[in-house]
Amino acid sequence: MYHKLLINPSFHALLRAIDNDLAEIARKESCCDCAGALHQANYSRSPLGLPASCREYYKTRRSFCCGQCRKRFTTPSVRFFGRHRFPAPIIILISFLKRSITVLTLNQVRRYFGVTVSKRTWRRWCRWWRDCFITTKFWKQAKGLLPIKCLSDRYPRAFLLAYSGTFKDKLVAVLQFLAPLTAGTYHAV
Ligand SMILES: [Zn+2]
Repeated sequence: MYHKLLINPSFHALLRAIDNDLAEIARKESCCDCAGALHQANYSRSPLGLPASCREYYKTRRSFCCGQCRKRFTTPSVRFFGRHRFPAPIIILISFLKRSITVLTLNQVRRYFGVTVSKRTWRRWCRWWRDCFITTKFWKQAKGLLPIKCLSDRYPRAFLLAYSGTFKDKLVAVLQFLAPLTAGTYHAV
């Protein structure tokens, strides 16, 4: 079952490696404002909902600071969905569930995912996908480039169903697809 991904350290190690690759691409650039060199200035993070064996992969969000004007450049991420306290894979997986939000489903999420999410938080995520995601600059540009099977009124569920491969492959692909939302020009979370 896909929820086992969340307790698999190698899955989280893979996401950290992808984030490090994204950060290395950014590090080779210079400041877009003053062309100054970028220096590492990572953020410490302590996200909710991960088993102890997986937390080490989420201790740091990669970020850089211009050596001249001090402007911050936080890089896109497949692990951190903006400032959300829950890691990106948890948000995507729980948002994938199509059931209505009831006490029963909250209990099932707690049992299967090992994550306690309040009804209010889950509703907020649902609202964001339904009302905000479709208005982002990222989505307005991306939707014209995607096959029709990716278009639906249920995101991110439609993306997970559209990609091929194992569920792990699909989830990684969706996290990579959505990473631009987490920083830079398309930052929207
Ligand atoms: Zn600068």
